[in-house]
Amino acid sequence: MICLGIEGTAHSIGVGIIENNRRKCIVLSNIIKIYRPKQGGIHPREAANHHAIHLADLIKESINVAGVDFNKIDLISFSQGPGLGPCLRTAATAARALSLSLKKPIMGVNHCVAHLEIGRGTLDECKDPVLLYTSGANTQVIAFAEGKYRVFGETLDIGIGNCLDKFGRKIGLEFPCGPKIEKLAEKGNQYLELPYSIKGMDIAFSGLLTASEQYYQKNKRLEDICFSIQETTFAALTEITERAMAHTDKDEVLLGGGVASNKRLRDMVHKMAEDRGARFFVPSKDLCIDNGAMIAWLGILMYNNGIRLKVEESYIDQRFRTDMVDVSWRD
Ligand code: AMP
Ligand code: MG
Repeated sequence: MICLGIEGTAHSIGVGIIENNRRKCIVLSNIIKIYRPKQGGIHPREAANHHAIHLADLIKESINVAGVDFNKIDLISFSQGPGLGPCLRTAATAARALSLSLKKPIMGVNHCVAHLEIGRGTLDECKDPVLLYTSGANTQVIAFAEGKYRVFGETLDIGIGNCLDKFGRKIGLEFPCGPKIEKLAEKGNQYLELPYSIKGMDIAFSGLLTASEQYYQKNKRLEDICFSIQETTFAALTEITERAMAHTDKDEVLLGGGVASNKRLRDMVHKMAEDRGARFFVPSKDLCIDNGAMIAWLGILMYNNGIRLKVEESYIDQRFRTDMVDVSWRD
């Protein structure tokens, strides 16, 4: 079975094509285009306009790279939520149009679950991980338990990527700020005290963001502030991930989301895993960030498990929670 997946929850628009061959997940193409606001954060309508402008070309490019014909596509999958309404609607509209014109079934999938499933699908040894999903808007620790992907911990305010981007914007960096903060942090050597907010299994970043901005106003060395932001937030993320692993008795950890590109975060989580005798996994970068391939793969898993969606019922859901999905395709 071959599925074309369209991802459009926020600033990225992606089209990926996956072939499912003897239950193996083969990525035939995965084309991504990122909307970069000239200033400020993501404006939902501007992002959606960006997606609408580029989507047709991305679909063609993805088909070309995959080397398949439109008539070889068996299924169209799209990101149903969570995300920004205008962006979700743009991706969903394109998916419906393709489904109707190609006369192929449509599937709507949960974006966060797709981040986890693409890890399981493409990394051979990764079977039952705890996912630390760190992106711009989302920050969740997710694992499978009793028929669903349960959220064991999550941010109570902003996502970790959003925290880094907001601080970056304050100091005059361009979006995305995470990689630039990572570079600055490498030159930091003095730890500045910052709020370490874990509440139960959840986490919060806004107090730390304010405190970091205050350090900046007091002319503390920028490299040290960035270093301290990374050390504090990543340690807290690693802690709640480890607690979820201990609670669920799982011995695999998977990273996902754009912030998973960060070497310091990888090193911390890797070290934690090693100390517990657990295995550590990160998908390739284009499968870590928001991408159409993961949407296509989850579409295949759901379709092959007998799940069906009518075009007229293919609504988007901005608040589509990870634990609303019945994960019937897993044992
Ligand atoms: P996503 O929402 O999953 O597409 O990821 C985008 C987020 O990842 C943005 O907030 C970026 O600033 C952040 N990001 C990307 N690369 C890095 C990095 N190397 N270190 C930290 N954050 C990063
Ligand atoms: Mg994402």
